Amino acid sequence: MKQQKLLYSGKAKSVYRTDVKGTLIVEFRDDITAFDGGKKDVLRNKGIYNAGVSAFFFKYLEENGIKTHFLGMIDRNWMAVRELSMIPLEVIVRNLAAGSVVRTYPFTEGAHFNPPVIVIDYKDDARHDPMLNDDLIIALGLVTPAELKRIKAIALKVNKLLSDLLATRGITLVDFKIEFGRRGKSICLGDEISMDSMRLWDKKTGESLDKDVYRFDKGDVMATYNRVAGRIAGKKTGRSMPKEP
Ligand code: 5GP
Repeated sequence: MKQQKLLYSGKAKSVYRTDVKGTLIVEFRDDITAFDGGKKDVLRNKGIYNAGVSAFFFKYLEENGIKTHFLGMIDRNWMAVRELSMIPLEVIVRNLAAGSVVRTYPFTEGAHFNPPVIVIDYKDDARHDPMLNDDLIIALGLVTPAELKRIKAIALKVNKLLSDLLATRGITLVDFKIEFGRRGKSICLGDEISMDSMRLWDKKTGESLDKDVYRFDKGDVMATYNRVAGRIAGKKTGRSMPKEP
């Protein structure tokens, strides 16, 4: 398969066409950003860790009945994916209160949500990804009511599968963001599921194991990503990776 023209370049990933119809390549770059692009850096090997963890989760979810865009890895930070028609929604599932939900509403950080809370944002950098509600999503014509119901059901299933898996690694899945696209009549999971798009807390120590380490200067970001990739996906993605200089 040959990489062809660049289709899209986001804050941390680039997407390329290939010579195979319906197959794209996602490059997980070493760029990291936070606060709406207000904080930016390039961290060596970050792309490899996020690609490895995403691939691991996509495979696991596929094995458990979730349709995803994942096809396989071409290189450690290059993923082959099925082309989807992406839906501009950021679907966030929250198990514990943290981040924007604590800043915006009177929740105490760490409070448990039972059942989990789904929040859906409009993916639009220029508008700063505003939060939507069901009526706005339908009024904007982004999905049909049946698709919205399906998206929420898939998001909750993904949450259960990932929470259960991470619990076996001693990690609490606090919250995460996923994105969906259409492939024919099916709704598939696209984008990535990585330390950049999840909030993960060590069950014993409460330590952050995700992008909050970068956002709030909590420590060595790449040492954390390396360790957590190893804990989640095993040697292939974590410890055997090149050491930081
Ligand atoms: P919050 O709303 O608290 O900022 O984010 C909730 C969860 O969704 C966090 O795990 C966060 O990393 C993820 N998330 C929210 N918005 C984005 C986004 O635009 N990009 C990425 N990669 N993750 C996001």
